[in-house]
Amino acid sequence: MPKSTAFLKRSIRGRFFQMLFWLTATFFICVIAFYLYVDQQNKHLQTQREHLTEKLEIVAGMQEHFIGISFRSRGYYAFQNKQELALLYKELRSFEELLEQFSRLKLSEEEQKLYSELVQFLENYQTAILPKTVSYVENNDYESLRKISNSGTNDLFNEFVAYTKEYQEKTETERTQLFNDTITQGQMFTMLAVLLSVLILIAVSLMMRKVLKNLIQPIEQLTSVTNDFTVGQPFEIRNLVVREDEFSTLASSFYKMVQSIQEKEEVLTTQNEELVAQQDELQDKQIQLQDSLDQLEKYNALNHVLTFTLEKQDLADTLHRYLGDLYTFDINIFYWLESDIYAAKGVSPQSAKKIIENLDIDKRTRLIEEKIFIITREVQPDEYHIAKQRYYCYDLYAAVLNKEGDLVAVMMATREGYPFTQDDTRSLAGILNRVSIAFERILMYEAVEKARQLNQNIIDNVSEGIQLVNKTGDVILINEALCQLAHYENNAIEQPLRQDDWLQHLQQLCDEPQVLHEFFETAVMEAFQGSRKLRYSIVGEMPIFIEMYATSIYEGNEKVGTMFVHRDITKEYEIDQMKSELVSTVSHELRTPLSSVLGFTELLLTKNLHQDRQQKYIETIHKEALRLTNLINDFLDLQRMESGKQQYNMHTLSINEMVFELVNRHRHEKKHTVHVIDKAQDVQVRGDEERLVQVFINLIGNAIKFSPNGGDVIITLENKENMLQVSIQDEGIGIPSQEIAQLFRKFKRIDNSARRTIGGTGLGLAICQEIITRHRGQIWLESEEGKGTTVHFTLPLENHVEKISEQANEQSLNVILVEDDWSLALLLSEEFKSKGLNVIHHYDLQRAYEDACTIPLVGIVIDLMLTDSTEDGWWLIEQLKTSEQTRHIPIIISSALDEAKDKVAHYGIAKYFTKPYSPEELSSVLLTFLEDV
Ligand code: ADP
Repeated sequence: MPKSTAFLKRSIRGRFFQMLFWLTATFFICVIAFYLYVDQQNKHLQTQREHLTEKLEIVAGMQEHFIGISFRSRGYYAFQNKQELALLYKELRSFEELLEQFSRLKLSEEEQKLYSELVQFLENYQTAILPKTVSYVENNDYESLRKISNSGTNDLFNEFVAYTKEYQEKTETERTQLFNDTITQGQMFTMLAVLLSVLILIAVSLMMRKVLKNLIQPIEQLTSVTNDFTVGQPFEIRNLVVREDEFSTLASSFYKMVQSIQEKEEVLTTQNEELVAQQDELQDKQIQLQDSLDQLEKYNALNHVLTFTLEKQDLADTLHRYLGDLYTFDINIFYWLESDIYAAKGVSPQSAKKIIENLDIDKRTRLIEEKIFIITREVQPDEYHIAKQRYYCYDLYAAVLNKEGDLVAVMMATREGYPFTQDDTRSLAGILNRVSIAFERILMYEAVEKARQLNQNIIDNVSEGIQLVNKTGDVILINEALCQLAHYENNAIEQPLRQDDWLQHLQQLCDEPQVLHEFFETAVMEAFQGSRKLRYSIVGEMPIFIEMYATSIYEGNEKVGTMFVHRDITKEYEIDQMKSELVSTVSHELRTPLSSVLGFTELLLTKNLHQDRQQKYIETIHKEALRLTNLINDFLDLQRMESGKQQYNMHTLSINEMVFELVNRHRHEKKHTVHVIDKAQDVQVRGDEERLVQVFINLIGNAIKFSPNGGDVIITLENKENMLQVSIQDEGIGIPSQEIAQLFRKFKRIDNSARRTIGGTGLGLAICQEIITRHRGQIWLESEEGKGTTVHFTLPLENHVEKISEQANEQSLNVILVEDDWSLALLLSEEFKSKGLNVIHHYDLQRAYEDACTIPLVGIVIDLMLTDSTEDGWWLIEQLKTSEQTRHIPIIISSALDEAKDKVAHYGIAKYFTKPYSPEELSSVLLTFLEDV
């Protein structure tokens, strides 16, 4: 038997197919046998059923024909009808035929007997009875007929019929029995089929079990062996190999594989070791490469520094650091000779400087000639430090020369016990060459930067605003003056300002944006020769007037930009204004008095006038001449002041004294009451008395002049920090708000109907401003048209000391002082203020009463005798005491008269002081009122 066939038989697959074959064969044989048996049984039963049916049909037919014979014979006997006789014969023939068929069937004994009887009967009937009866009928011999009928023929008929009936029933029963047998047999077959199926299923299960057993066991073994192999444990594979099926093949393959793996493992281990060695080598190379890369990076960075550094110190520091990194020096000095810039490592900056400065001429010459050289020297025992044995130091000297070949920088480096290679010196020389180029570049940059800075400084110091615009209209340069004019924050333009942006900005500032816009646009777009001009003004509290001119800038024939120069012409503009104001002032202020002077002198010359008249005219002429003189004086004063020729004689002045004295001058004013509110504790300023009096006269004069309908003029003195603030308030016509800012300009007057009749030069406020500014003070005014004006000015206090003086102002501890002697008023005012009281001084009794009604008071001090007043002090006291509002105010009388006791008692006067008295006493009485409150 061939080997493969034998294996096939032993193999799991072979055995499985064998088993499957036998099982299938048995199954088919059983099924076929079973089928044949069942078929045969069925056929048998079928034949039996058919046989019985046939027999039954024949017997039924015989019965039918038998009855037919009986009927036809009787019909014939009764009616002697030949047709009946013929039918009788036909019936007989049919009967005979069926009997014949019946005889051919398989008959039981009883049926055999029946057949013989019927044959006998038929024979008898055909041969004996029928011929007789026919002859009797033909002969009408009914008597014989009756005899024959009674001879038993009819009995036979009946017997036969009864027999066939019985026979039919019996056969039917047999048939039913047969059917039942068929069903029973069918059930039995079904049972048999089920049994067969169960048997086959059991056989298949058994077969599967065996197959599985054959498969699983070796697989498990193989798994365990594989596991052992994987973890490196010894394993036994013989059990599997000795089998003679697929597992044996698998096991031997596995075994071979294991052997091959073990062999390859050794090879691999060797290869791996080789690879590790190669990797180590590669790593070494990579480290080398990394080192080179680092070195390269350093070179690169150095290159970058050499190319882009624009600062010498920066270059020295960076260069020094990079060289130290690249070449490893123990000491390293880099020194720019001209600029005294150096970088050092390993020595102090001072020593570094000294070393370089002491570089002898030989070494310098050698440096210029050789550029780089090394001096090797033995280290002295006292320099040994940690090292104990002899060793050498290597001093490297390298030069940086400029393009003229002069020495510009020196590099000195020392290595202890570690010499410089030729490569070191070569690459170092290369680097230093590039340093020399970098140095040239820095010098060039510095020169360019210096020139640029100079240009920028020039541009920034030009008082005109300069704006340079490129071809597309973007601003590329503006100077400081323009920044200030146009409120730009910073003139360092990092990137060009877009045309739309700067134009919009300027347009917002100026008075005629559309005109400005068109001017700029055409100037930027068009290339033109010469310059174009435009005047515009920047709106604001103090408008700035600007004259701008534009010029195209060309490079060759091509326009590359436009330059705009903005010149502040506010001063010129103001001078123009002033000129026209001067003209109008002069025409009015000179012409009016001159025409009066001329007119009156003419009258005096030509007419013979009454003496009174003459006197009056001459007075008028004098007044007008004075007016002219004042105008000229004012004008000359201002000229003098502005040209700086005005001498200021500075003294310590008490402003309140000045004010009381000046106010005293106005006590006779009819329509106006001028009075002082003195809240200032400190009134000492350093100033020129004459000039300050001039200020007061101007301001009080204006207050009176511009209150044509009369009213109060209040001069208030108060301390504001380290300043004395003076305010002169009137109840006059006021000033339109838009004019306020310009009033301090020379010749500025407001021209409207309310003022036309009021004379003036427009110089008063300008003079005041000039004087106050020279006293390091400030002047400003507040006004409301129709209500009045307050002019404020401040003067620095001479010896300002912080006092608790504000207290009086805050608490409003006010005292009204009615006193016509201004020096006594001043004395009392000083005394009261020293006690922390505010003094409201009046000459006028009525105004004093009005103030008493409106201002909260500590008390009121009244002088009984007032020179210019029609009423005396008692009148005021009467008013105060009768009014509900003022009744409670404590009254002190200060009088030269003796005390009128009854009146004093009557009005409940708090205290009566007869002049002279001590002001201190009076003030202490005032203070007692405070306590009462
Ligand atoms: P003048 O008084 O000679 O006209 P000033 O320089 O003193 O010149 O004043 C300038 C202008 O300011 C005056 O013409 C006037 O219109 C206005 N002015 C000054 N002071 C007052 C004031 N107290 N009330 C109203 N207007 C005033």
